[in-house]
Order: sequence, then C-alpha cells, then structure tokens
Amino acid sequence: MKYSRFSTALVAAAAAWTMAAASGVDDAMMANDADGSNWATYGRTFSNWHFSPLAGINEGNINRLGLAWSLELPGITNGATVPLAVDGVLYFTVGQSMVHAVDAVSGRLLWKHDPEVTRVAGHKLRYTWGPRGLAVWKDKVYVGTTDGRLIALDARSGREVWSRMTVTPEDSLTLTGPPRVFGGLVVIGNAGSEWGAVRGYVTAYDAETGEQRWRFYTVPGNPADGFEDEAMEMAARTWTGEWWKLGGGGTVWHAITYDPKYHRVYIGTGNGAPWNRKIRSPGGGDNLFLCSIIALDADTGRYLWHYQTVPGETWDYNSSMDITLATIDVAGEPREVILHAPKNGFFYVLDRATGKLLSAEKSGKATWAERIDVETGRPVEVAGVRYEESPALIWPGGIGSHNWHPMSFNPGTGLVFIPTMEIAGLYDDKGVDRKRFAMVRGDLNTGLVEFTGDAPPDAGRSALLAWDPAAQRQVWRVDTPGLWNGGTLSTAGGLVFQGQSDGMLNAYAAANGQRLWSFDAKMGITGAPITYEADGRQYLSVVVGWGAAGPAFFGSLSAQHGWQARVHPHRVLTFVLDGNDSLPATPPPLVAQPVDDPALKIDPAQAAQGESLYARRCNACHGLAAVAGGFAPDLRASPVGLASESFRAVVQGGALELAGMPRFDEFSDEEVEALRMYLRRRARESLAAMRAEARAGDNSDH
Ligand code: CA
Repeated sequence: MKYSRFSTALVAAAAAWTMAAASGVDDAMMANDADGSNWATYGRTFSNWHFSPLAGINEGNINRLGLAWSLELPGITNGATVPLAVDGVLYFTVGQSMVHAVDAVSGRLLWKHDPEVTRVAGHKLRYTWGPRGLAVWKDKVYVGTTDGRLIALDARSGREVWSRMTVTPEDSLTLTGPPRVFGGLVVIGNAGSEWGAVRGYVTAYDAETGEQRWRFYTVPGNPADGFEDEAMEMAARTWTGEWWKLGGGGTVWHAITYDPKYHRVYIGTGNGAPWNRKIRSPGGGDNLFLCSIIALDADTGRYLWHYQTVPGETWDYNSSMDITLATIDVAGEPREVILHAPKNGFFYVLDRATGKLLSAEKSGKATWAERIDVETGRPVEVAGVRYEESPALIWPGGIGSHNWHPMSFNPGTGLVFIPTMEIAGLYDDKGVDRKRFAMVRGDLNTGLVEFTGDAPPDAGRSALLAWDPAAQRQVWRVDTPGLWNGGTLSTAGGLVFQGQSDGMLNAYAAANGQRLWSFDAKMGITGAPITYEADGRQYLSVVVGWGAAGPAFFGSLSAQHGWQARVHPHRVLTFVLDGNDSLPATPPPLVAQPVDDPALKIDPAQAAQGESLYARRCNACHGLAAVAGGFAPDLRASPVGLASESFRAVVQGGALELAGMPRFDEFSDEEVEALRMYLRRRARESLAAMRAEARAGDNSDH
C-alpha cells in the first residue's frame, strides 16, 4: 500500500481524531449486529457471532487480499487470542497479559502495557497459558492477568486507571478468559480447577471505578458455613461426601454472554475438581452447576435458570465454550435460542427464555453417551463410561471435540462454522487411593493415574465443520492439520477464515468449504481473525502464535508442526485488498534435538521418581513425556539440564522467572535431581529412537 504525503497526513489526522474519540464503545454499539465498522467485544457484538456483515472482501475478490502490514511481538510466547478493533485502533493482549494498541492502517504501535506478571505472579505463573482476549468500554480497556488482577487501562495512553485482585494469592485461580462489559459493568470469571481446591465464581465490577457489584458462585461451599443464595442450597443437594474440601471446580474460565433483550448474563462452567467424580462426590449426584450454562440477572447476579450438559461430570468436560445468541427456525417457527458446542461432542440448541433444551445431536465423535433425551434434557450414557472397570478409552478426551476456539455463526445462511477436534481420553483410576485423595496446590489434580506417555502425531485429528443448527446436521467438513484448530471468522462476503496448526491462514467458501485463499504465516495460529473498517476500507487482522493447552500439553502430536515459541516470532498480521507487504525472514519449522551426556549414569529408580513429579508439575507447559509441543522449551534439548547446579538454579531458584519459567522452591534437592534424571533418560531414549528411525530411513533408500 502506498500513500502520497498528503494522504499520509490525512490518515495521521484521522488517527489522531479517532484516538481522541475512542470513547464510543457502549451498549448501543455492542448491540448493533448490522454495523460492521468495529469489532468491539470478543465475539464482535453481544450476539457473540464472530461474524461480520462487511462484504468488501468477498468470494469474488478474495484473490486480491494481501498483507497490509505485520508487527513482530518480541518475547511473546502465547498468541492464542482474539483482538478488538475500535475506530481504527487494534487492541490485543498476548503473552503474560501484555496489552497492545496499534494503528490499524499503518501498523504503528501506539502504546503497550506490561502488568509485570512474571515479577508478581509467584506460584500462579505455573497455571496459565495466557489470556485469550480483552474488553473495551467507553475510554477504557480491560484485561485479566495470570495472578488474578482485573486491570482497567486508559484506551488513549495505556496507563493503568484501576486494578482489582479478583482471587486470593494463596489459591490456584488464575485469569485466562476475556472480561465482558455491558451497561457499565465488567464481568470476569477465573480458571484453575486442575491446580488446587478451587470453587468457581464470576464477579461483576463497576467499569468506571472497579468497585465490586456482585458475585455468583457456581458450586456450593461447606453447608456448615451457610449458603450464599438459594441456588447454592439447591446445588448442594446434588453433591455427596465432603466435596468442599476438594473445592468442587466449575470455574467460568471463558464463556460469558450478555443478552440485551432479557438483560441477562449467560455463563458457561467448567469441569469438576478433581475430574474423578468417585472422589469428588462419592455417592454420585449431578454436581450442579458443573458443566452447565447458567442464566443470571445482569444487575444482581441472581440465578435465573440453568441447563447442565453433563450431569455428574467426570471426564474434564466443560460448557465453557461459545454461548451464541441466535434466532433460527425450530419446527417451522422462528425461535430465540442459544447455540452451544461444548467439549462433549454434541451440538445444543436451547430456548433462550427458559433454558429448555430444544435439540442436541452429535457434531463430533462422542462415545460417552448414545444421545441426549430432549424430553428430560439429559444424556443417555453408554454403560462403563465412568471407568468403573478402569481403564476406559472415551471420545472425546478432556481437550474436547470443540474447545474455546471461537465458532462463528452466519445469520444470513444460518450456518455455524466450528473448529473441531477428534481425540480420545484414557481414563484410569486403578490404584488411586480415592479415600485419601487431597487436592495438592500446583499438581495436575485429576484423581486419575498420572499421564506419563507421549501422544503420537496421529493420536488426534481436526476438521473445520459447517453445521446447520436448525436441521442439526453437517453441511460440509474440511480436514485440517494436526489437533489444535484455530478459531473461525465468517463474513457476509460468503467467506470463512481460519488459522491452522501448520501456520496457514485460509479462507473458505462458506457455501461448500472450497478453499479460496491462503497465506503462509510461518507460525501456528491458535486465535481467531477479526475484520473491521478503518479509513474507509475493510481490514482483517489475526494474531499469529502457538499457544494454550493443546500446543503446551500434547507432546509429539503438537511438536509435529515444528513451532517453537522462543524461535518462531509471534506477530500480528493485517490484510487488505491489494495489500503487498511481505513477512520478514522467519526460521523454518524445527524438530527439537535432544542433548545427551553419554558419561552420565542414570539411576532408574531416581528417574522413575522424576517421571511422576514431571507428570504432576511440568507436563502442562513442557509437554507429555518431556516432548514439548512448542509453547515452552523442550527440556530434552535444553542445556540447562546437563548440570545439576544450573538445573537447580532454574527450577528451585527461579533464575528464569522473568522469562516465564516459574520457580518450584518447595522441591527438595533430591526431587530436582530426580526430575533431571528423568529428563536425561528421556533425552537418551529420544536420541536412540531418532537414530534408529534415521537408520531405517537410510536402509529403505537402498
Ligand atoms: Ca479442565
């Protein structure tokens, strides 16, 4: 794109004007589905469609779409996020809640805010993959941090206006979800059901002052302390044993949708803590409000209704995925509904007024239930799925058939475009002492046998699915690379955009899934693109980066793409018709090369002790069986582990804390050395396997 000096001055003047006027985000803007000029909230408008009515970029001219500019984000290791665009300014949060404001036309960084998470988060640095988005209201931008702060920034300068601690420093709750704003309130949930005895809740704060307005807990506390409200009293009747000692879980870590028509908030809750219901609630029970959509009064947070997708959740199933508002035909009548594709492999249509189930069908591979009974609203479970006879292999596994990656809804065609995954979970609690189980802060607390094996590259697959929610059937499906599948954007231009694990940003024809356009972003994409107008033209922006649970956890299944967050730069890319910029030089995909010290004698018992410690404390970031998926460094390849002293300095001493590696100062010297021995064993095993594979390859050439 080339501008004359005159038009550059005009653009600068316009940018200055819009900066001064960056106070336009209010209920009217977020309720206006027809005006595509801004992308003012996570799902663009309150409807949460991730759809734009703009059609300037369309099926007819998509071949002219080109890069307008790219901006490199140095030091950032998580880009699993969705930006916002207001009056020509792009806002996004990446890494450890670093908030950026960028001129959408020129790509010039206007300001950057660093909440210094690595300096202050302490043990909470262990529990996160980073934030997925932010919110804007009037003249402020809102972001949540790993350590639990909700921060309001001045949209013009990035300066902090107020900050509230929304959790307690001792618990294992952390913030990863985007805050949502409406009517002068900012609402935030939290995450962390795996990392300790936590009890989920959402809190509403005054957007102007940060003063707390209301809080709603999602699972009941200890009855002896009294219940906060009637909803908790009702919920407690669906739990057994002493669940409150384990926290219960049910965190609202992502989905919050405001419904302006009913002036309600719908929240989506997560899994139980721990996953295993036999431990959490030994006498059974539905365990309300785990894995549910709950409707709350927007002014008071008072409970109105709920729909539980998975009663008695025991597989890490969640309803924290998109809660989308729509009007679709049900039995020939237009109905106001909620569209919802949670982890469990079914697609749900609920009546928005009452929460009553209208229909639910399998949109992915799901072996845990035969079907959902529409009369009762309850699943018809398959015998044996609660791992009574451990182990049980069940689809989907805990990562879900669909996770937080946004699906999009095109109100014109009535279709939903869902980034889906297909992978089983192995559920095994054989040998777990259920009576003496306690949630240990910082452990991966599942109540199952520890995960010590790798996930091979073919352990899972993914697809972009076009789904008709009225007919509850697939319209088309395109297989996509790997497991982790980026969020979608659909537009009135007849297009669906999606970034994928192999680093390609693709545009598909919404009608039939034909791929019409591709751009090689040279790094895996996990967030979702947005589109908006600036300077009278339609732009499309996406944060390119490899992040969140899939890339962090899934070993070889994620490592196969060759992305390493500390090698391949995270970037924001912005596209426009006839854009002709190109990406700076970027390293090609890499395979981690383990390092071994052949002279080192590895004690098998010590390495086995380290394996267990690794499975509880390390694999969430460094990957299954020490095969890093690309989010955190591969510890088989890191020279830090070659010497005891350097390894202790990092693990116990926190030498790399500011770079994002949390300190584990509660580990004894013996434990750290056991961990090191395990990593050395894994490096040696991996090298031997790689050499054997290379030899087999040589032989097959002859
Ligand atoms: Ca979970």
